[in-house]
Amino acid sequence: MSSPASAGPVVAPPQKVNLRTPEVMSAVQEQVESHYRSDIVDKVRRNGGILRVGDVTVRLAKQFGFCYGVERAIDLAYAAGKVFKDRRLFILGEIIHNPEVNEQIRSLGIKNLMGKGKEAEIDDLQPGDVVIVPAFGTEISTLEQIKERGCQIVDTTCGDVMSVWKRVRKYASESATSIIHGKAEHEETKATSSRALGNGQGHYLVVLTLAETDYVCDYIRHGGNKEEFLEKFRGAYSSGFDPELHLRSVGVANQTTMLRGETEEVQRRIRQAIMDRDGPELAGTNFRFFDTICGATQERQDALRELLDVKMNLLLVVGGYNSSNTSHLAEMGEEKLPTYFVRNASRLLSTEEILHYNLHAREEVVARNWLPEGPLVVGITAGASCPNNLIEETLIRLFELRGIGREQLQAAA
Ligand code: SF4
Repeated sequence: MSSPASAGPVVAPPQKVNLRTPEVMSAVQEQVESHYRSDIVDKVRRNGGILRVGDVTVRLAKQFGFCYGVERAIDLAYAAGKVFKDRRLFILGEIIHNPEVNEQIRSLGIKNLMGKGKEAEIDDLQPGDVVIVPAFGTEISTLEQIKERGCQIVDTTCGDVMSVWKRVRKYASESATSIIHGKAEHEETKATSSRALGNGQGHYLVVLTLAETDYVCDYIRHGGNKEEFLEKFRGAYSSGFDPELHLRSVGVANQTTMLRGETEEVQRRIRQAIMDRDGPELAGTNFRFFDTICGATQERQDALRELLDVKMNLLLVVGGYNSSNTSHLAEMGEEKLPTYFVRNASRLLSTEEILHYNLHAREEVVARNWLPEGPLVVGITAGASCPNNLIEETLIRLFELRGIGREQLQAAA
């Protein structure tokens, strides 16, 4: 990709603009609420999260749906649409992992520069264009390209993601390789990986599963076949990464939306491997970790754990299928009871059939006979990127399938 800064005159950086003025934010609030709010969900929440009509009971998790980081990102994107209404507006991929929200962002005239559904090229950006950085952040190189083009940047990166960046930068400054528990292709992990390089001296390796962690641990303890290692983790380590050299001193961090239990296990296994290799004293120098699961992810996992203690017939998890924190909620549910991960209400096809995302097959599949007859208790939760209006529609559809209409629900809520 060509760089106008190196090819032509230096472009002056745009002036900082405060988007969060009271007038703008009050207009944003109104619009955001009209798109994503739900009266029914708000009422059920206020009534202890239980809605009972006839022989159907719905129990909502105590924490679900939009987190503070997502709310802030959406507010800023809507504010950008108002403050820069005469400029061209772009976004670096999806603002969050929810197709309905992304569709709303598109409807505001904001064009996507990356990934699936890309509508424009970074190369075509001009000074004065506005570029929104999503809640997961972006890679340093991408940010540089945009700055070089003199664009106005609206950075919605969540503060919790930036905390992970701070941590991996510190590891790099201590010449420790960052081992990142996450998905190598996830936007947040790519953004974090780019910070793990520090000033060029740092390295990173991304591990996703405990099986991958065990492979790395074996290598730490006994060495192994370097070519095989590099092939196995292709696309998940920094340029020039050498397992012989760069697993001597490591620091573990994680994508903010992983399962806490699994992340802790990754840390524990790597620490043990370093201790086995170096002994306890040196392990203190060669191993460091910092828990970077965000508060919102933690709260949603804790709330679901509590909900799963209640006897229920099934669980509905509502949200985008590429949402990491939502997928983990579905995993937690699957361990306990029939769980259906649905994008929205349209997936509840009939009392016989539901179209849901199978995490293992990584595709939507139809399940039959999913809705039992007779008294029914259904748990509902949703990931940090799911708006309340989608939860409401799912709830309404569920009751509708049992012959209970919207008016009855509104009266009972
Ligand atoms: S899920 Fe966590 S890290 Fe992601 S936007 Fe929400 S609060 Fe921030």
